[in-house]
Amino acid sequence: MDSEHTAQVTADANDMDVPVRVFSGARPTGRQHIGNYLGAIQNYVALQDEAECFYCIVDYHALTTFEQTERIARNTRDMVLDWLAAGMDPSRAVIFAQSDVPQITELHMLLSMIVPLSWLTRAPTFREQSEAHPDNVNYGLLGYPVLMASDILLYKATTVPVGEDQVPHLELAREIARRFNHRFGETFPVPQAQLTEFPRVMGIDGTHKMSKSLDNHIELADTPEDLRTRVLSMVTDPQRRYRTDPGRPEVCNVYTLHTYYSTPEEQAQVYHCCTNALQGCVECKEWLSRNLDAALAPFRARRDAFAADGDRVEQILGDGAARARSVATETLREVRERVGLRPQPR
Ligand code: ATP
Ligand code: MG
Repeated sequence: MDSEHTAQVTADANDMDVPVRVFSGARPTGRQHIGNYLGAIQNYVALQDEAECFYCIVDYHALTTFEQTERIARNTRDMVLDWLAAGMDPSRAVIFAQSDVPQITELHMLLSMIVPLSWLTRAPTFREQSEAHPDNVNYGLLGYPVLMASDILLYKATTVPVGEDQVPHLELAREIARRFNHRFGETFPVPQAQLTEFPRVMGIDGTHKMSKSLDNHIELADTPEDLRTRVLSMVTDPQRRYRTDPGRPEVCNVYTLHTYYSTPEEQAQVYHCCTNALQGCVECKEWLSRNLDAALAPFRARRDAFAADGDRVEQILGDGAARARSVATETLREVRERVGLRPQPR
């Protein structure tokens, strides 16, 4: 795992003349997968050395669609372990849980007063989720982008490392920041998304983005056996029906993953063998599975060591919550004043 494929913070990262500050969050709906890593976590790690970073387990966001709520606490711990093993470092980044900072709910409510309903009803995720779960189209789901904007703005973030699926939400967060600034005076930097070279990793089904909730993912902490099973079940070029058919690596998800997990020489060989029908998809997947396993073995070892380290995760989340709350309290004080609420009694 390296930072070769991450994007660097650019000088024009924000409109206001403020230092770069990073915020990002992930839902505790399961353990982290290679899509999360390639699309977001590798940027989380790289940015730690460049700016002040806030990384949040967004448990309120999980409640909007996740039905197994009894798993949220365990998933939160699992995700922190994944993050630590991937190189996120609580001495260089604030790592915390969303619901440990109650100011988020107040900012969410205040921002909800300035967000037109039409912005939310046409958000792609709302439309998709409403179609996928017609029995559970709740108020919280509609407000998801306002909650996400609140997360970012509460910490006055300028830079938000995310996967491509979150770009429409980020666009809304930018609109909300602009609208608030226009109405109440310059308060929030207008945040910018930061993508990696792998902003949309496809799932093993080959048709949807890799997602915890679609169960089409390969977890960073998968055992070698599970990893191999998952890789072998990946959908490849649908036009390549027989081994003797030449394949099209450019439309094959297995090849896409080779471009990260295999050496340039191996990638060239995979490409050549596929396009000339010299190698079947199963061999190609076995190759990927070996390389993926070699890349993830040190990750698993680090994760096991963190997991065995007593109440380390709870300490990190406790310390992170305290640091996040102090920034959140200051932002809320300013926001209340801007909107015209009287100062809170001490
Ligand atoms: P869920 O299915 O519960 O929404 P998820 O797999 O989509 O889970 P999130 O916690 O929603 O994961 O996303 C965490 C971060 O990872 C976000 O920045 C998101 O954009 C990014 N991300 C998620 N899936 C992918 C993917 N397939 N490719 C690239 N980035 C991704
Ligand atoms: Mg998601």
